[in-house]
Amino acid sequence: MLIDTLDVLRCPYCGGRLSLVDSLFHRRTTEEIHDGILGCHCCIFPLVDGIPVLHVLPASTMARDHLQAGRPDLARRAMFGLDDDAQAEAFDAVASSDTATYRNTVEALGPTFEGGYFLYRFSDPTYIVAQAVTRAVGAAVLGGTRRAIDICGGSGHVTRTLLDLSDAPPVLADLYFAKVWLARRFTAPGCEPVCCDGNAPMPFARGAFALAMCTDAFMYIWTKRQFVGEMERLVHTDTPGAEPGAVLIGHTHNERTWSPSHGQPLAPEGYVDLFETIEPRVFGEGNLFADLVAGGPLDLARRDDRETLDASPALTIVATRHPRVFTSHALPQPAEATGELRINPLYALEPDGDRVHLRLEFPNEEYADEYGACRLYLPEALTLDRSAIASLATGKVSGDLIELLRRKVIVDLPRRYY
Ligand SMILES: [Zn+2]
Repeated sequence: MLIDTLDVLRCPYCGGRLSLVDSLFHRRTTEEIHDGILGCHCCIFPLVDGIPVLHVLPASTMARDHLQAGRPDLARRAMFGLDDDAQAEAFDAVASSDTATYRNTVEALGPTFEGGYFLYRFSDPTYIVAQAVTRAVGAAVLGGTRRAIDICGGSGHVTRTLLDLSDAPPVLADLYFAKVWLARRFTAPGCEPVCCDGNAPMPFARGAFALAMCTDAFMYIWTKRQFVGEMERLVHTDTPGAEPGAVLIGHTHNERTWSPSHGQPLAPEGYVDLFETIEPRVFGEGNLFADLVAGGPLDLARRDDRETLDASPALTIVATRHPRVFTSHALPQPAEATGELRINPLYALEPDGDRVHLRLEFPNEEYADEYGACRLYLPEALTLDRSAIASLATGKVSGDLIELLRRKVIVDLPRRYY
């Protein structure tokens, strides 16, 4: 963790500043802390493998004891929940390898860790809406220098889209140590991960951020009122003339409709009532998705009527007084990768001389049911020249391939993803 990041951290329980306890075991450089114990007015917390763990659940207490005994290796195993020695050794080997991929590392954590569809995450309909809204709101409020936080951001797939919007590294907060660790290593390198509990007060200073966001997780939070109050606090500014910040809740389910992995959602007006200091706007995700399928612009000036919201399985909520957010946003057409360009793994490839036939093939029926709307931008079948596919290794696209990148037939994946 960068030592500068201590400026935005606060104890979730006493609100005090956190500092490295020099008298206890630690490893640091002049700029970063690798392992150690952070103390406030009331408590001490472990900082394991560069990640502050700002909750007091059993794994955290165990990791703190291991650090105090000078065993950062055991502290990391405790945070990953690896109590079987053979599995822990297998994981340590993968974690210290320079050639490991996100996929091997996830596999080394065992079959229960991330069963989901991470291979296809960067092209699923939920993700592309989250990415576009995050970039539109983030570009407006961060101004290239202010800081964002992605709360309950898991393994950092959406955090990744924040990386180039500001010089200040985004903070990624999540309860699961393994996920934020993976994010820093693979998915969102350069983010500052923090392990904390979304149902407790957030361990950050008032006004530390210009954008506080949470995507695809808010319906699983029980203490919703506290969570939103905390997001408002994190982007609050007392400085006269400072530009306003924004709170963004992406892809939260709607109590009035059914959706897979429903959670404990509210109705649209229930979400509005959670906000006490900034009036939010609620969008049905369907219209935002239609904007993207059409190639833009993303219209955040729209006001969805009550029927539209009631019928929307997923909602996006934005609260801000910033004048450049509730407008129409042109969609960028990138021609260069931030990671590696690959053919979307949803396509089966069949070589045919100098050409390759691509056929859309979903991993299973469940995927087709939940994410089948990707058919609106992923063609059923297409044929590419072998040389065009080979050219993806340059990290740049031109001509027709720019449109295929926009439509996610070509995906821009983190390096060493699979
Ligand atoms: Zn404290």
